[in-house]
Amino acid sequence: MTTELEIGLYIFILSGFLGYHVITRVPPLLHTPLMSATNAMSGISLVGSLVIAGADYGPLSALLGFIAVVCSSTNVVGGFLITDRMLKMFKTRQDHQALGRPARWRRGGILAGAALSACCLALLLMKQPVAYLNPAHALSFFYIVSAVLFILGLKGLSSPKYARKGMFLAEFGMVLAVVGTLFHGEIVNYRWIGFGLLAGSLVGGSMGMWIPMTAVPQRTALSHSLGALAATLVGISEYVRHGATGGRVLMTAIAFEVVIGGLTFTGSLMAAGKLQGLLPGAPITYRGQNISNSALLMSVVALLVYMVAVPAASPFFFVMVALALLFGFLLVVPIGAADMPVVISLLNSYAGLADAAMGFVLMNKIQIITGSLDGTSGFLLSLLMCRAMNRSAVNVLFGAFGKIEPEPEGLAIEGKGTVRSIQPEEISVLFDTARCVIIVPGYGMAVAQAQHGVGELANLLMKRGITVKYAIHPVAGRMPGHMNVLLAEANVPYDQLYEMEQINPYFAEADVALVVGANDVTNPAAKRNRSSPLYGMPILEVERAKSIIVLKRSLRPGFAGVDNDLYYNTKCMMLFGDAKDSLNKLFAALKS
Ligand code: NAP
Repeated sequence: MTTELEIGLYIFILSGFLGYHVITRVPPLLHTPLMSATNAMSGISLVGSLVIAGADYGPLSALLGFIAVVCSSTNVVGGFLITDRMLKMFKTRQDHQALGRPARWRRGGILAGAALSACCLALLLMKQPVAYLNPAHALSFFYIVSAVLFILGLKGLSSPKYARKGMFLAEFGMVLAVVGTLFHGEIVNYRWIGFGLLAGSLVGGSMGMWIPMTAVPQRTALSHSLGALAATLVGISEYVRHGATGGRVLMTAIAFEVVIGGLTFTGSLMAAGKLQGLLPGAPITYRGQNISNSALLMSVVALLVYMVAVPAASPFFFVMVALALLFGFLLVVPIGAADMPVVISLLNSYAGLADAAMGFVLMNKIQIITGSLDGTSGFLLSLLMCRAMNRSAVNVLFGAFGKIEPEPEGLAIEGKGTVRSIQPEEISVLFDTARCVIIVPGYGMAVAQAQHGVGELANLLMKRGITVKYAIHPVAGRMPGHMNVLLAEANVPYDQLYEMEQINPYFAEADVALVVGANDVTNPAAKRNRSSPLYGMPILEVERAKSIIVLKRSLRPGFAGVDNDLYYNTKCMMLFGDAKDSLNKLFAALKS
């Protein structure tokens, strides 16, 4: 006889495989929307949280459930809103000319969705004695439909053309799952649920609608921490409720849920703080760090094993939760610099696993499925990024990469040659004879909010018959796909964006490579200097262009903290200043 646990495990594994096949088809262009979409879907922890908040499990469970509802609904509302905001911006040249058409399918979809929701609700309310009309069974069917819609949603992300339609299906799946859960047999009180949903929707809605695209990385990290907090709180509530009586299987699931949830919560908070600039971005290291962190991890694992053996040992349970929280914090402290993107998506993966563990605790299959999809997506993105930086995941986590001993300034410049600066008027002369220009955006473009200026300049160049291409490095900016989203916001058609492997052969043909706030991703030291922390990271081969113009404020290094050899290249000229101001001046010079 197959037990519930076995069924859960089969579902977890199969969803992981399915997720792998669907997610590997998502192009790098859509990696940021993928992250926020899986984030929003992992807000399915809301269904478990609703039950804990509304059931008659006691005041502590109601309180923990309420907080979990706030966190999860923030993720759902905020995640879907921001994903839609991003996807709306991805357009081809033809789409820009035919604005307005996509609204038709959306209206039709909304009507179909509303009709289907009404039918499902009616089924639930009828409470017929017939087995499949029984609310509990109907809820299972709701979850099955939701799971299918989530997978179709992710499938839609394999092309910018279908991505919004796919996300609409996923949104509808979420509505079905949440509305269905409101009729869960154990829910007896809707007060905390109502307040929680309201608060979460307000916070998530404001974040989703108004957060600038430049702050998407921090928002993503913050939302991983909220999802993980929800899982941890539900786990604690379930432990308090069942204690020693739940059995070893349940205890194993609860222990995984609170440990992974706890470390993801504090780790993601740290990552968000570092990315927002509230905490120092550089790695913080000290002697014996890896040994003390490993010892801490071993203690958490030992406590987990002990709790499974003796579920009644409640003081140890809370010590285990506290150590997991501490471990998450210490895990991210030594990571910084160029490794932050990998950490964010690893934490995405952990948040998914915590969600899946919550699914095992509550034996809720839809949570197992979405947790597994989220876990797979985060893990795959981490691997892709490690490959893009030529690093191993172990090295990222324990290598304290980017901790640079500052070079004495004189020494750094000495022997590297001189740096030339250029004025906008001189650049406009250079453009007069150019036939092909490659624009290389980087994090500085995001800081300066210069994406619109970049788009306008490119349009002006194209009007003059110049071919303009954009070179997108997989880890340019502070998030996978960061540059794609910003350029899409500035109405740059995505068919002008080229991935690193596609564009590198074209640099030799380019008359001008215009680097806008990019630094590390263009540093030739990554190819030549074995002692550079960037060594081995594939870069955009900007130095092969006939002329190189770099727009940045100073010679200060980028995220990895290392000097850029490109600036000493005889073909390279620097236009110092804020990228947005420089682009305005350049635009004016070209016009005049
Ligand atoms: P970068 O190496 O961090 O360099 C950005 C440059 O932008 C800085 O050198 C800065 O120089 C300049 N800048 C800042 N504000 C500016 C402004 N207002 N106007 C003009 N320039 C400005 O950026 P990148 O080349 O995009 O490389 C990304 C780095 O971040 C990589 O090391 C990557 O591994 C890491 N990272 C990536 C992600 C991701 O997923 N994409 C996430 C986290 C970290 P000035 O101060 O002189 O102006």
